[in-house]
Amino acid sequence: MSALGSYVKKRVDGVLLLLLFFIFSLSILFIYLQKIDNNTTQYYTYKKTVSKLLIYNQKLDNIFIRSYHYLDNDEAAHIIKVFDKELIALQKNELTKKFGTHIEQMVVGIDKKYNEKVELVESFKTLNARITSSVYYLYELSKQIKDNGNISMDVEILFSDMLFKIGQVFLDTDLNTLHIEKDLKEIQIHQYMDEDIDYFYKHTEQFLSDVKLLKHILKENKVLKLDKSIESLNTLLENKYLMNQTQEETIGLIFFVFAFIILVILINTYLRVLKNRKEVFHLAYHDTLTELPNRTEFERYIETLFKGKENAKDAFIVLFIDLDRFKVINDTLGHNIGDEMLIILARRIHQVLGNQNLLARIGGDEFVAIIEHHADIDMVEGLVAEVSSVIRFPILIREYTLNTTASIGIARYPEDGSDKHTLLKHADSAMYHAKDSGRDTYAFYNAKLSIDIQRRLDLEQELVNALAKKEFSLNYQPQYRLQTRAITGVEALLRWKSQLLGSVSPEEFIAVAEDTGLIVDLGYYIFRQACTDYMGWKSQGVEVDLIAINISSVQLRQVDAYERFKKIIDETGMDAKHIEIELTERYIMEYSTEKLTILDDLRALGCRVSIDDFGTGYSSMSYLRELAIDTIKIDKSFILELPDNQQDAEVSKAIIVLSQSLGYEVIAEGIETVEQEELLKKYNCDMGQGYYFAKPMDSQSFVTFFKNQNKFKID
Ligand code: C2E
Ligand code: CA
Ligand code: CA
Repeated sequence: MSALGSYVKKRVDGVLLLLLFFIFSLSILFIYLQKIDNNTTQYYTYKKTVSKLLIYNQKLDNIFIRSYHYLDNDEAAHIIKVFDKELIALQKNELTKKFGTHIEQMVVGIDKKYNEKVELVESFKTLNARITSSVYYLYELSKQIKDNGNISMDVEILFSDMLFKIGQVFLDTDLNTLHIEKDLKEIQIHQYMDEDIDYFYKHTEQFLSDVKLLKHILKENKVLKLDKSIESLNTLLENKYLMNQTQEETIGLIFFVFAFIILVILINTYLRVLKNRKEVFHLAYHDTLTELPNRTEFERYIETLFKGKENAKDAFIVLFIDLDRFKVINDTLGHNIGDEMLIILARRIHQVLGNQNLLARIGGDEFVAIIEHHADIDMVEGLVAEVSSVIRFPILIREYTLNTTASIGIARYPEDGSDKHTLLKHADSAMYHAKDSGRDTYAFYNAKLSIDIQRRLDLEQELVNALAKKEFSLNYQPQYRLQTRAITGVEALLRWKSQLLGSVSPEEFIAVAEDTGLIVDLGYYIFRQACTDYMGWKSQGVEVDLIAINISSVQLRQVDAYERFKKIIDETGMDAKHIEIELTERYIMEYSTEKLTILDDLRALGCRVSIDDFGTGYSSMSYLRELAIDTIKIDKSFILELPDNQQDAEVSKAIIVLSQSLGYEVIAEGIETVEQEELLKKYNCDMGQGYYFAKPMDSQSFVTFFKNQNKFKID
């Protein structure tokens, strides 16, 4: 869970980082937009200032246009003041700097021209005042001169003409066309006649030069062209601003797109984190292969059951389902096939149990189920039987037809345990008990089973070193022709005398050896020992036709099995035709026929093959027909209750007839009484084996037994 935790944390950290990044870029975007907004405001004040400047410039110009008219000094002062203020605002505008030195210089230029213009206004004001007073003085003077009376008519007319012309000046008539100078020259002739005329002359001259100066000033005003400067500033500003605006908009857009992309990534990542989290949690609580809940989920679920059951003690059932010899399939056909098989079986079991009962996979081939709402034990047994049957149904994977079975242990809450560990442990014990009862069955937990589990653990532990400790040996049990009682063969039977556990029956330990895989090495030991013993007998003159050796199918699944068997045969100098391989019917049923080619190989070598424990498995006769075998061995369970058990008698008889019709020889094992022997003889069974004729014995005893066989031969 800590790995899971750190994984989730890492993802969340990633999102946090992205989020921070997003907020960061959003803030930048915000600040930037703020700046753009500020720039826009500045620009509008700029524009306003510029248009004000233009207006006030116009007003200034108007002062000049009014020329000789009355000049309002207050108004001029006001205009200048406003203009000053606006100009300062222009210089202070943030954009002035931003738009570069060119604009700054322009503003400075405007300022300079403006100052010149102000100076011009000042001189204009003075001149204007002077001209006005000049005209007034001239008029007064001419009147005075006329009143004196000692002035010629010509001069008088000249005065009137000149005054009229001066009046024309005020109406803006060109000074040159008026020829005032010419008149003035004529007056000059009379200049010294009268002191007044002299004044008039001088004043008019002054007036003319003032008017000329004024005209010059007005002309100069046009040269200043302040309005043009302001307008070109305005155009430049506009251009700059527009350029700046596009730039700002582009940058803003880029920022926006950037933030948007981050937002999309953020949302996407966040959704992925959510999804991953879900997946990770699913992973944590589910088995990846079968998609079923795993052990953690099973334990969690059972906890919730206990929580709910504090008051109402609702009973429920735990099933422990373990596939029989699944390991063999995995080891021999490969993990892929094994995995596919698990998936198919998981689906089948789930279908039987339905959604209302939890099914979990807690180990390689181990499933557990919780049955919650069951009416009675019969119903549970019915369900379990159904589970067994769907598991037993052949599984088709690629070219293989696989048959498997399961052993199922059943533990009940609250009778068999009040916590999840005990319940699971007890269901497991019951499952082992089912395995020990021959697999493909189910068992309920009972207190005695716990002892069995300990026993099994002991066996496993001791078996590991038993071979090295030379604790194994072989016993031999004769097989004979029923009609003549002649010894036809001998079955090698394994014995284990454990230092710690004493003598242990193969019935008990062979299954453990198979489950743990120890059977492989053990099997080669048995095979070699049997061959060696056989050759030993031969050297002593004991020539037995067949030595039957039990071989576990687990061993036959080893890829190099054939080579190793052949090597042992060669090394011991054995003739393969004296070897009979005994295989149980159940084992053969676990695999498809296609995979049993090793039987063909061994038979090609000369070995015979017999099917052991026949009648206990599920093979049909049609299936048997396809197998490369020679002998069928009727299971001792059918012989045990003969001749009293009518059904067993019928089955035995049927097997004998059918086998012989297929061309197989038949042998009955477990013959303990003369009646049994008699009946089998009557059914025409070929051969027999059992305590009645001979118990399993050690190698040397068998030599003696064989040498004395003539004693009980029937001729
Ligand atoms: P199996 O192959 O069916 O062997 C016959 C079993 O029946 C032997 O038990 C034998 O002692 C017993 N038996 C013989 N005659 C009678 C009789 O008249 N009445 C009764 N009640 N039993 C009789 P054993 O030796 O305990 O072997 C038990 C099983 O262990 C064998 O059954 C076989 O499946 C397995 N086994 C024994 N030796 C080997 C071996 O070398 N390799 C392998 N793979 N399995 C072995
Ligand atoms: Ca056997
Ligand atoms: Ca048998």
